[in-house]
Amino acid sequence: MTNTSTLSEAIRPATIAEQARRRRTFAVISHPDAGKSTLTEALALYASAIQDAGVTHGKSSRHGTVSDWMGMERERGISISSAALQLEYRDTVLNLVDTPGHADFSEDTYRVLAAVDCAVMLIDAAKGFEPQTVKLLEVCKQRGLPIVTVVNKWDRPGLDALGLIDQIGERTDMVPVPLTWPAGIAGEFEGLLDVRTASSIALEAVEGGAQPARETTIDPADLDPHAAQVWDVASEELGLVASSNGDFDAEAFAAAQQTPVLFAAAARNFGVRQLVDLLVDLGSAPTPRVTADGAHRPLEGGFSGFVFKVQAGANTAHRDHIAYLRICSGVFERGMVITNSRTGRPFATKYAHRVLGREREAVEQAWPGDVVGLVNATSLRVGDSLYQDEPVTFPEIPHFSPELFVTVRAKDPGRYKQFRRGIEQLDHEGVIQVLRSELRGDQAPVLAAVGQLQFEVAEQRMRTEFNAPVALEQLSYTLARRIPAAPSSLPDSFRGGEILRRSDGECIAIFGDRWKLGHFADAFPDVTLELIGA
Ligand code: GDP
Repeated sequence: MTNTSTLSEAIRPATIAEQARRRRTFAVISHPDAGKSTLTEALALYASAIQDAGVTHGKSSRHGTVSDWMGMERERGISISSAALQLEYRDTVLNLVDTPGHADFSEDTYRVLAAVDCAVMLIDAAKGFEPQTVKLLEVCKQRGLPIVTVVNKWDRPGLDALGLIDQIGERTDMVPVPLTWPAGIAGEFEGLLDVRTASSIALEAVEGGAQPARETTIDPADLDPHAAQVWDVASEELGLVASSNGDFDAEAFAAAQQTPVLFAAAARNFGVRQLVDLLVDLGSAPTPRVTADGAHRPLEGGFSGFVFKVQAGANTAHRDHIAYLRICSGVFERGMVITNSRTGRPFATKYAHRVLGREREAVEQAWPGDVVGLVNATSLRVGDSLYQDEPVTFPEIPHFSPELFVTVRAKDPGRYKQFRRGIEQLDHEGVIQVLRSELRGDQAPVLAAVGQLQFEVAEQRMRTEFNAPVALEQLSYTLARRIPAAPSSLPDSFRGGEILRRSDGECIAIFGDRWKLGHFADAFPDVTLELIGA
């Protein structure tokens, strides 16, 4: 039964399929300072922002992020929520979903990867693989996401191109297939060999900034022998990689067995056009999403989506609460009444927004792959599935292995009721993971996180929103494992660790370090320890 009464003039399935085909929903994964903001700005030079106000001014808006969140710049609204940037290029809509980094690295950073169909892994040419890239890469691999690798800052001294290709192969467990290759070593960037167009493109000596790079196609044979040599070397190197790694194969890329590699200098907007073209030509459009019962939700079916991020308390005055929704099927229309599959409750989507930088813009219609922010949808939690007519539940977004642990207690014991309510709410929203044990008691549960900001947000919201200021005390644990079917004989604590329960009932062991984990495994050989989120 399909009730299309709320849809504007019968939107045909073919239209939905066509709109889905036009979409590329992706995230950039990188370590801080690799150039994610610079790349985002450069992308926006080629692909025009669908809505322009205050979009992607890199650092400035990102710096606003944490401070706004913390209420210092409340007046400015919700700048933290540049959750997704929508760009249009060659009749394709690019949805760039932000992966918060730096100090705001948190479980959110991992969760947004559930909302994308493709990832761009950005590597600093001088640094190669860095820890945060590796962590995010692991999550992408678990999700089976196709990954495009971009080696950035080739205009600065860095590692050797062939060495980087080897490193990419080893670290990603995918076959790297260069689709552009630099002429000139890092720091002496002359131009690019573009494999897809079989052309040589010289980098003009223009500084980066507000212009797309000027590209001049050259024939190295016309250059003087000295200048031509750089291009000859590039050709040889590229040939070498091609002979060992083979040609690009779209299926192998989609299956995350190959990663196409591009070289770029985002600060000069060079090599970036090739990335946008690659995403449009070869990137993955939304496909029918797998549901919790293993079926596939057809793109052209009734509207459905899931919440991958919830932001609350950004603006305490207005009790702002935005749930970000990734659309999986059908068409979303503002005002549509949708149902939350967890609660079975319907609600109206009067306040649906695209949130860009500091601006909000009402969304009238959105399609599979798009991201919509639902304002004041306070009942929504991360992982909730939403639909219009045809019920669906998508798989839960997994928990991720926390690495930071604190105990939390109410500063004022008289406000214990508010304390408990607040902690429960933050737990539900997925702001932090809450772990309990008899040993710790309900007065001082353990909060677990992947990034420090999660604690700061929790502390702030407990104070301002729940009126229950808390004291946090750091614990010296650094890793966690899940214990499936935990025997009741396990102690709450042991040397260098503890065993607690997460609110979903899972038994979680936390350890000081790998050695403590090893000791535990020796002492309890029958207990299985599983990675969380794997
Ligand atoms: P993010 O932390 O990953 O968002 O990195 P940013 O985009 O803020 O870049 C970090 C620093 O690297 C800034 O000073 C940028 O100007 C610089 N940068 C980024 N891309 C390039 C590049 O292609 N070449 C050079 N030379 N510098 C770059």
